[in-house]
Amino acid sequence: MSGIGASRVVLITGCSSGIGRATAERLAGRGWTVYATARKVEDVADLERRGCRLLPLDVTDEGSMRSAIEEVEKAEGSVGVLVNNAGYSQSGAVEAVPMEKVRCQFETNVFGLVRMCQLVLPGMRRQGYGRIVNLSSMGGKLTFPGGGYYHATKHAVEALSDALRFEVTGFGVKVVLIEPGIIRTGYAEAAVDSMGEPETGGPYAAFDAAVARATRETYERGPLARLGGGPETVAGVIERAISTEKPRARYAVTPSATLLMTLRRIMPDRAWDAFLRSSFPRPGRTNGGSAS
Ligand code: NAP
Repeated sequence: MSGIGASRVVLITGCSSGIGRATAERLAGRGWTVYATARKVEDVADLERRGCRLLPLDVTDEGSMRSAIEEVEKAEGSVGVLVNNAGYSQSGAVEAVPMEKVRCQFETNVFGLVRMCQLVLPGMRRQGYGRIVNLSSMGGKLTFPGGGYYHATKHAVEALSDALRFEVTGFGVKVVLIEPGIIRTGYAEAAVDSMGEPETGGPYAAFDAAVARATRETYERGPLARLGGGPETVAGVIERAISTEKPRARYAVTPSATLLMTLRRIMPDRAWDAFLRSSFPRPGRTNGGSAS
């Protein structure tokens, strides 16, 4: 079957706040049929008044993902557009983040995203049309200290999306990566909260505190904040990517993303590390830190 007459229905993960919410509002306001989903459906109740249909969906829960997609397929035939937006930063030093939290980070940002793709693709292939929009980040192309796990998930999203784009284009399915820079949402607060209380006197205590400070400053008042944007900027780019006949493989969003990804590409590792030292103290004895 060709894409003519195919379902163009949009399913978005993580609509309780930020980019997911802004995208649901924007697309519903412009005539798209939108299924706005959230872990707690009551968090998106108000989106029904904006024209969205609501479903509970936790991307770390197989049953929840399956039943959300089954509901859409029962009502609409197929998911036409999947926006894999749900995600957060598990921040903290690589040595110090408990493995349970590391696993949860990958379950949400990578395995949930991949499983959603696996579940919608049979319907998209059947109808010969589909768009998959994966929220990566400028952080899929560079890495900040204290963000090792988050960046690892976004690098993984970049690799998986590149593979998937090649594999499914022949079935009429286009895969798009969105690479936002600094976007004012609940992201920074969630990143700081994810670290919990810093361990007093531990080897990474001062470092973790600096990561928390740098995260807040970057989003609230640092020079990069002026090169960032609001979630509606990302929503506009997502709309463009799903409306155009031939979407690009990736869209950088806001000058902060373009600038930092360019800097990372042209700077040798040593220069990049020196650049980072202007915002982050290096943990360790050579910098007056504790060894244990
Ligand atoms: P946000 O306001 O914190 O929104 C994150 C959303 O993800 C929330 O709705 C949250 O829902 C949801 N979520 C978390 N775990 C989930 C799960 N297991 N199942 C379903 N939903 C889950 O942050 P945001 O900035 O809009 O982030 C959206 C996406 O953009 C993320 O993938 C993020 O990595 C990416 N991004 C953000 C920025 C930025 O600067 N803000 C930059 C680059 C990329 P709950 O309310 O239930 O927790």
